Amino acid sequence: MSNSNYFTTIGLEVHAELKTATKMFCNSKNDTEEKRPNVNVCPICMGHPGTLPVINREAVKHILKIGTAVGGVIADFTEFDRKNYFYPDIPKGYQISQYKFPLVKGGKLRGVSLTRIHLEEDTAKSTHDVGDAAPTDRLKDGYSLVDFNRAGVPLMELVTEPVVRSAEEAVRFARELQLLLRYLGIADANMEKGEMRVEANISVSPKEGVFGTKVEVKNLNSFRAVERAIAYEVLRHTTLLEEGNAVIQETRGWDESKQTTFSQRRKEESHDYRYFPDPDLPKLSLGLIPEWSSEALAREIPELPWQRRERLAKLYALKAPDIEMYVENRELGDYFEEAARALDLQELAQLASNYITSDIVGLLAKSETPISRSNLDRIPVGEVASVIRMITAGVLSSRGAKDVLAAIFADGGSAETQAKEKNLIQQSNEGELEATAREIMKEHPKVVDEYRGGKEASLQYLIGQGMKRTKGSANPEVLKKIFKKLLK
Ligand code: ADP
Ligand code: MG
Repeated sequence: MSNSNYFTTIGLEVHAELKTATKMFCNSKNDTEEKRPNVNVCPICMGHPGTLPVINREAVKHILKIGTAVGGVIADFTEFDRKNYFYPDIPKGYQISQYKFPLVKGGKLRGVSLTRIHLEEDTAKSTHDVGDAAPTDRLKDGYSLVDFNRAGVPLMELVTEPVVRSAEEAVRFARELQLLLRYLGIADANMEKGEMRVEANISVSPKEGVFGTKVEVKNLNSFRAVERAIAYEVLRHTTLLEEGNAVIQETRGWDESKQTTFSQRRKEESHDYRYFPDPDLPKLSLGLIPEWSSEALAREIPELPWQRRERLAKLYALKAPDIEMYVENRELGDYFEEAARALDLQELAQLASNYITSDIVGLLAKSETPISRSNLDRIPVGEVASVIRMITAGVLSSRGAKDVLAAIFADGGSAETQAKEKNLIQQSNEGELEATAREIMKEHPKVVDEYRGGKEASLQYLIGQGMKRTKGSANPEVLKKIFKKLLK
């Protein structure tokens, strides 16, 4: 079925747990690595009555930083609101969030206009149908568990305008946002750990500029799930519309095992949250805080993913996939840049990059070592530069270069010593090689005649003999040149 006659609109809502020492409104530790349940808790994040929340200034600053990075408008005035609903993972009966006065409005990321970025608290984590994993027999059937370690962890919510057009564009956006959070050092944003969670709002319409009925898909905890869930929904909507049926406005979930979405609740059943300003928290006049002025914040923003992309392209004229690797892994990118600088010649940057992105990254992958600076330094940048120089000098073949890098990775040492030890130095001395070539031609007069008679393949045979005679140490390119000259 073709869906070329339909127009897809997507708006994203992304939550990310912020990296802070303590939780959003109390002194409990904010530690997403904590595996033991209900360790980092206190009366405030457990929602006990009569407790008083206190705003975490580090979390507020994190949001102001990302707002600055995306070019959004930082609120002059902001406040926190209570979003009222009942659920065991929110025992206060409300979540502290922001409604009318979010910290940030507007901004743009990867061409996608943002509506707002606000700050709220994460809920506790419930586990349903615990079954055999239950800590006691009594809990085996029909019980759920609640872990409050996550309750009150500072949570960023970023909402985009309905301007995304495809599943691929949605994934590109989410990836860029993850990178941005990491560059700013404000979130680890690992989707598989639930540190970043994406919700996609999708609508399909037969008419450009007219919105179709929107469906919200929750629980997307991998980029692949984002892409597949959106593609699934677009096809489902298109099919419904083609067959003359209506799309129902609802919230759906993503079933990872079935790779389908399923209905969770209809919009008309959705809650009325009765938002109102939280009377326990002070309102903030951000404009009055000099250390949070836009100039002060701008000074704390590092090179951002898109700036790095542009700089690497301009400075080294690298292939796009290499640039992307260096943007995604800054330590790898810094390693490359140091190697490139050691080479001086800008034209050799791509060659160095080839060996770094394929061979060196490959060596780390093969030994199941993460790409970190300390692991990369098992092959010092100076040695990478040496290898590249040896290749361009004809002293090392590309095959030899790979072996030298592997040898340094395994046993240390320098490019020079490893190349010599492993017998990888190519003979490029034309005088010596010419003598060898003359001998071979004398021993194979028939082959020489054949070549002169027009049989091109004979040249390859003679080069092969030369390689054999020198036990593989001859530079085949130099041999070829010499044979061609002598056979003229
Ligand atoms: P709701 O009140 O249902 O939460 P919002 O207006 O707050 O809706 O928008 C929530 C998200 O849905 C935003 O990311 C927005 O861009 C997106 N959205 C709104 N309308 C549409 C639509 N017709 N199609 C796709 N996404 C939409
Ligand atoms: Mg909403």
